[in-house]
Amino acid sequence: MNDDLRKLISLQELDLLIKERKKEEEAGFQLQGAEEFKKARETIISLLPPHLYRKYQRLKERYGNAVVPVVGGICQGCFILLPTSLVSQKNKNERIHTCPNCGRILYWADE
Ligand SMILES: [Zn+2]
Repeated sequence: MNDDLRKLISLQELDLLIKERKKEEEAGFQLQGAEEFKKARETIISLLPPHLYRKYQRLKERYGNAVVPVVGGICQGCFILLPTSLVSQKNKNERIHTCPNCGRILYWADE
């Protein structure tokens, strides 16, 4: 898998963890480890090309999730059937592809 794509997926997983953590904190629980998550997040961001991070942030603000899997040729963000010209490409995870409909960053879970 493309290195940047792998980082984007990790970043999204971290963001989900941070979000969950925040909810629990707001509910009054004192939790350890929030700082580590934030540090890990900063490390990933520092390794990502800035334009990809900006794209990620934009998509996250707009949709809540920026990186989505493709299952059976369908974008799991907006559920459109992706064009054959894209689906039939080889080694799709070696490049950053975006959904032509919603613009989310795609990865193929079954490759
Ligand atoms: Zn889509």
